Amino acid sequence: MPVRFVILGAGPAGVQAATHAARMGAEVTLVERDVIGGSANLWNCIPSKAMISTGGLMSLVRRASSMGLCDLDARLDLQVLRERIDRITGHLERSATELMASQGVRVVRGAGVFKSAQEVLVDTAEEGPVELEADAVLVATGSRPRTPDWAEADGERVLVTRQAYPPPQIPRHLVVIGSGVTGVEFVHMFRSLGSEVTLIVSRQQVLPQKDPEVAAALEADFLRRGVTLFKGARAVGIDRTDEGVVVRCSDGRMAEGSHALLAIGSVPNSDGLGLASAGVRVNEAGYIPVNQHCQTNVSHIYAAGDVSGKLPLASVGYAQGRKVAEHVMGLHTRAHRHLDYDKAASAIFTEPEIADVGLAEAEAFAEGRKLRVTKVPFAANARALIDGDARGFVKILSDPATGIVLGGSIVGKNAAELISVLALAVTAHLQVTDIVESLLVHPALAEALADAAE
Ligand SMILES: Cc1cc2nc3c(=O)[nH]c(=O)nc-3n(C[C@H](O)[C@H](O)[C@H](O)COP(=O)(O)OP(=O)(O)OC[C@H]3O[C@@H](n4cnc5c(N)ncnc54)[C@H](O)[C@@H]3O)c2cc1C
Repeated sequence: MPVRFVILGAGPAGVQAATHAARMGAEVTLVERDVIGGSANLWNCIPSKAMISTGGLMSLVRRASSMGLCDLDARLDLQVLRERIDRITGHLERSATELMASQGVRVVRGAGVFKSAQEVLVDTAEEGPVELEADAVLVATGSRPRTPDWAEADGERVLVTRQAYPPPQIPRHLVVIGSGVTGVEFVHMFRSLGSEVTLIVSRQQVLPQKDPEVAAALEADFLRRGVTLFKGARAVGIDRTDEGVVVRCSDGRMAEGSHALLAIGSVPNSDGLGLASAGVRVNEAGYIPVNQHCQTNVSHIYAAGDVSGKLPLASVGYAQGRKVAEHVMGLHTRAHRHLDYDKAASAIFTEPEIADVGLAEAEAFAEGRKLRVTKVPFAANARALIDGDARGFVKILSDPATGIVLGGSIVGKNAAELISVLALAVTAHLQVTDIVESLLVHPALAEALADAAE
């Protein structure tokens, strides 16, 4: 009898686990209450990057005169932008749905709840209650934006990210609360689309988890583009006014704007799943702790994606989903490599783009680890000068004794693409000389990687 594998949630982790397990012969049922593709497709990665893509084009048009193009003017048509986002997310949803059908995955539409460790109950609109028996279950129910107890997102003037794709009008002045990855992406997005922007930064640097040099480069660019930074400011309340909003900070500062956007993190979708009926433990923050195979404390129940409390990235969800499928099918006994979350590449789609992978410089120095750090600016790169955007740099961290690449950061145009080279180097334990001796294209931004590896 094939393994009966039930998956709750069709985001990156669920979809990847479903197709991979189905290809290996499992009888897969994918339960989704919303859309195939998950929040990643509907609310997060895709619409945010579609907005950033339009904003990026507007910025480019504003700079075009320096490249010899005169009298260009970019005015935003919100309706066209909205339709474009719907078209892209709709297309991705349809292709994911078709993929499920082609792999023989049964899709059940509705919210799934554990009845016991082996049974999942789904209340569907079409078929009524559906009971599913399972040999293995994956919880891949994702996360949702966190809202604080001092503010309510009304979807009109006070927004969470999923209410901003795009809002009914582009804010005259947006106050963004939260300067992590999501916050800074929204600063960039709306500044490019023409809003005045104030950013509330609770610490002394934006992107507190990132390399200070990288964060400083982004801050400098924000200031150059007229973004107001409230540093060391903790928001404690939002008042609605006739004209818009006033965000109150704990030190008495006030940020006035037409709209406010809350970007203060997310909470896991682990409530209401009946996890206690299945004996699955959650931690205080609501995440489901997992081992290196993504197994929960109940060995045939797995958790992957945001709900597992590892790196909240779609790319990590995909990788976990794949590993779960392999474990469910018993493939982990063969040459199976565990996921190394420290080697996950990540990107921030600002201008300039930011991407990093592997070891962080500050962390390595704090551990007293010997490190070779090499850095070159894009200002020395021909392609960057030709393209009229020579902001940023490439930084590579390597082991001084062996030359093995341990990590790196890229700030600059196409950083999210370029980081793939360093991600491969880190994963495959390549040496800096492997990068230097690659015969690269000229003129290309990637040449900066070879220069930094010298
Ligand atoms: C604004 C924003 C932008 C982002 N941009 C990026 C990016 O560019 N790149 C990147 O890698 N990551 C990005 N992320 C993070 C990324 O979106 C998440 O890491 C990713 O979506 C997590 O995937 P997941 O598989 O856990 O599930 P999700 O994508 O969260 O989907 C979970 C699914 O489970 C469903 N579900 C929940 N409960 C039930 C239930 N009981 N029964 C059935 N279905 C259920 C939900 O309806 C949802 O469809 C971004 C996040 C945000 C907030």
